[in-house]
Amino acid sequence: MKIELEVPDDLVDGKVLWLFAGSNHIGVKRPDDDWAIKDGHCSMCGRCCMASHIRKMGLPIKDGYCANLRDHPEEEGKKMCGFGANRPFLCSIGHPKFIPECTVTWRRANGE
Ligand code: SF4
Ligand code: SF4
Repeated sequence: MKIELEVPDDLVDGKVLWLFAGSNHIGVKRPDDDWAIKDGHCSMCGRCCMASHIRKMGLPIKDGYCANLRDHPEEEGKKMCGFGANRPFLCSIGHPKFIPECTVTWRRANGE
């Protein structure tokens, strides 16, 4: 899908722009940079909900993970957020590069 739109400069100048498909963060554009587009999907492993990653957010911790992390009711081995689509913004945009199992990857919209 190609998305093109005109927005007023004074609304977006100097701002970080976020693109979401539902609650799935799929794009980001920082000032003076091109769009970064998600091209590797989240496998819902739940590893980024580790206490070490989220400690500063003040979320409750249980067994080393956020206490809101749930087993997916339909997909064996997958995890989901107990907040559903209302999960915190910082959780939605956090795609930790330090987790080897993380399957989320990004590419530049200009192909670089
Ligand atoms: S609030 Fe949800 S997405 Fe955020 S760390 Fe907890 S379980 Fe993970
Ligand atoms: S570590 Fe990566 S693949 Fe696993 S749940 Fe978090 S974002 Fe998804």
